[in-house]
Amino acid sequence: MDHNTPTTISALEATSEELISENNVDQQEIEKFSAMAEQWWDLEGDFKPLHMLNPTRLEYIEQGVQGLFGKKIVDVGCGGGILAESMAIKGAEVVGIDMAHASLQIARLHALETETKVTYKKTTAEQFAEANAEQFDVVTCMEMLEHVPDPASVIQACCDLVKPGGTVYFSTINKTWKAYLMMILGAEHVLKWVPKGTHEYEKFIRPSQLLSAIDATQLHCDDLCGVEYSPLSSDFKITKNVDVNYMLKCTKVI
Ligand code: SAH
Repeated sequence: MDHNTPTTISALEATSEELISENNVDQQEIEKFSAMAEQWWDLEGDFKPLHMLNPTRLEYIEQGVQGLFGKKIVDVGCGGGILAESMAIKGAEVVGIDMAHASLQIARLHALETETKVTYKKTTAEQFAEANAEQFDVVTCMEMLEHVPDPASVIQACCDLVKPGGTVYFSTINKTWKAYLMMILGAEHVLKWVPKGTHEYEKFIRPSQLLSAIDATQLHCDDLCGVEYSPLSSDFKITKNVDVNYMLKCTKVI
């Protein structure tokens, strides 16, 4: 028998996932996040930094769009739903998309437990945008671009998903020695907040690179800010310093 022919459901899935992996998905990244999936809602677990960061980014998003109530939002690379769920609690109609099935299962379970309505879907930003162009008031794509082979393609898909006049948020990590020290040496090796290998320096993105990818779309950047960890209060504060973590707010031209 031709052993390239899939014979089981898992083989069929593997084949379709391999096809998708050509579609701007780094399968190793997805496996890494799937293996950590049970930790998503452990406040002291592998995703502790995202839990500490969440109130700050939620407030930034909420203020930027004059309230979340009733807004149609897609959260691209939603993981276990930390941000997606918090936006739904504020009254937004949220769809979370990710390629890690295990993370989506945890996100669904958690939404059931907290009686929050979020729709979770396994798809890429690019595929989802094909069927849902200009459907959303707000698109959030946080801490995800540094995990994909072609960030510009995700940026274009986020632009496609948002309505004209709508808002897109990105956050990622700058490519500086300080980011290397803090995010890789500090967070992975010294503090052991996140597992070793969570981030790769090569995939960090300079604001100038992100801004030129944004310039190639119909998005216009309205705000760029740093997000800095404050050890005294154990939370993150918005600053002007974009050396390590930073966020961007964009509007789609009408
Ligand atoms: N945005 C979430 C999770 C960030 S972790 C938050 O900030 O809380 C990065 C997430 O991106 C992981 O859940 C991972 O599975 C997802 N991801 C990586 N590559 C992806 C791709 N090509 N398409 C969709 N999701 C992807």
